[in-house]
Amino acid sequence: MSDILLEINNLKVGFSLREGKVQAVDGISFQIPRGQVLGLVGESGCGKTVASKSIMRIEHPAVLEGGEILFHRTEDDAVKLHELDPMGDEIRTVRWKEISMIFQEPMTSFGPMHTIGNQIEEALMLHLPLSQDMAREKAIEALKSVGMPRPTVVMNQYPHQLSGGMRQRAMIAMALCCHPSLLIADEPTTALDVTTEAQILELLKERQQALGMSILYITHNLAVIAQIADEIIVMYLGKIVEHSDVETLFENPKHPYTRALLGSIPRVDQDPEGRLVAIEGAVPDPYSRPPGCPFHPRCPEYMKGICDVKEPPTISLSDGTTVNCFLYSEVQQVKR
Ligand code: SF4
Repeated sequence: MSDILLEINNLKVGFSLREGKVQAVDGISFQIPRGQVLGLVGESGCGKTVASKSIMRIEHPAVLEGGEILFHRTEDDAVKLHELDPMGDEIRTVRWKEISMIFQEPMTSFGPMHTIGNQIEEALMLHLPLSQDMAREKAIEALKSVGMPRPTVVMNQYPHQLSGGMRQRAMIAMALCCHPSLLIADEPTTALDVTTEAQILELLKERQQALGMSILYITHNLAVIAQIADEIIVMYLGKIVEHSDVETLFENPKHPYTRALLGSIPRVDQDPEGRLVAIEGAVPDPYSRPPGCPFHPRCPEYMKGICDVKEPPTISLSDGTTVNCFLYSEVQQVKR
């Protein structure tokens, strides 16, 4: 069986608004191997959530403008998700059963008018041939598997009656109840305190290993991604700027943006009186993207006449990293 579960090739997703066009995802390509965790990091607005929603085909009101999203069920059976009708029957057989998603804020992910039990049972009965009693049993099992205290009581509770951490556990139970092969976790711990965040990360790692599934973990927090991912993709303004395994990225980041992101994380071995490094400037206006490298207005290593003229190519380095930056291309070597 092919090692690749999900393959994205040159994906473009945009919003057409009254104020103009926003290219939220601008030609990104990556693969998620079976049983691996891929981290997708970048500032708010860099396109990571839009890209992940496109995989589930819930990108509306954005429009999928080009590229391919291939979901390899087996080596010979690739579902072309980009060609499916987002409202059609076929995508509904993939959503939740084969690819499920945990959203950032569990309070708004559950319907407020139904009990937790009803919502998990519904997800189960939609995708598996189960009677009401069997679905109830499986829903209780799913809640137990995520360490939910008093699962039979929680089954009859409404989302607002649970704490943030319990709601997120219930969301994970619902996302995993049909044993999907890919879980998309979109900033699942952002709304939680650090203790609960650590518990949820531990739980996700344990479930990923127990079920052998793949995870696409989206966050703006590099400290979180270090704990869970095998590989990391860094995005900036709708583009991938660096892709590497987790050790290489943390030990030897290549792209100036990745280096700046890592420099802004507090470290225990750092001078307590020292200042954290801040990335100069702000993310550019999405209606008027800078020409050339999208990071050039903020880049400390910007080369006039090169970085502001052409888009940097994707360069593969010997340690397996791919980086989009002229610092690693022949153009830069000629100019230095
Ligand atoms: Fe900086 Fe130029 Fe590299 Fe862009 S291409 S990150 S501006 S050095």
